[in-house]
Amino acid sequence: MPKPAIVCHGGAGHGARDQPGVEEATSLGWTLLQQGDSALDAALAAVVMMENDPFLNAGTGGRIRADGSIQLDAAVMTSDGRFGAVTCIEQTKNPILVAAKLLDEQVNMLAGRGAREFADSINVPRDEVEGSPQSTGNDTVGVIVRDQSGLIVVASSTGGCTGRPAGRIGDTPLIGAGIWCDEYVGISATGIGEAITLKMSSLRIADRVSSGGGLSDALKWGVEQFNSDIEVGFIGLSSQGDGVGIANTKMPWASKS
Ligand code: ASP
Repeated sequence: MPKPAIVCHGGAGHGARDQPGVEEATSLGWTLLQQGDSALDAALAAVVMMENDPFLNAGTGGRIRADGSIQLDAAVMTSDGRFGAVTCIEQTKNPILVAAKLLDEQVNMLAGRGAREFADSINVPRDEVEGSPQSTGNDTVGVIVRDQSGLIVVASSTGGCTGRPAGRIGDTPLIGAGIWCDEYVGISATGIGEAITLKMSSLRIADRVSSGGGLSDALKWGVEQFNSDIEVGFIGLSSQGDGVGIANTKMPWASKS
């Protein structure tokens, strides 16, 4: 029987102050897995906890855009071939729950007004999102879970990078760039979204794992593709073994198995 495991990160550039929030989310997901909950339920619960953590700043405390708006991105991908994402959604404290509802729809990605109207249709309440009190920095939280059936689920949520224009889409909700999951491995990225998107990092790291490379080496290779002045980090979890996190900057992360 596959061994359950979870790995979470709280964003490249975040320091030790944010480690407790990441550990709490990891413990919550782990407790659910131990109770026999699915990888999807455990991953969503862990992301929601981090979206609600004012220090981690995805969801509730998302970064403020250049025009003063708060527009959030979130995505979920599963090893059985499903994907759901929302981008630039407003008035939504937990965008990950909206992204997850797209996993079983024909449409797998919605932006802006359409994303919010879909949220209305599934009774996700409209709430004003407070926004991050910090004026600089980036935000993303990511979780990867493997359950006892062997299903792997990756879920990521972000307020983006500070001061980007309204409508800007970073790597987080882009399949292959900020998120990837197949039967071999799940990857979640964090850092400067435009740079990560250009390198299609998550898919290229995953390809190295599916062609026989070790997970730590593949993640290290992914980080090495960037100049050191571009903050990036990745977590990964394969079909066996423990979760791993690697970054070229501070990145709170935690795993349990
Ligand atoms: N990658 C995110 C974005 O560019 C931000 C981050 O992870 O720090 O939207």
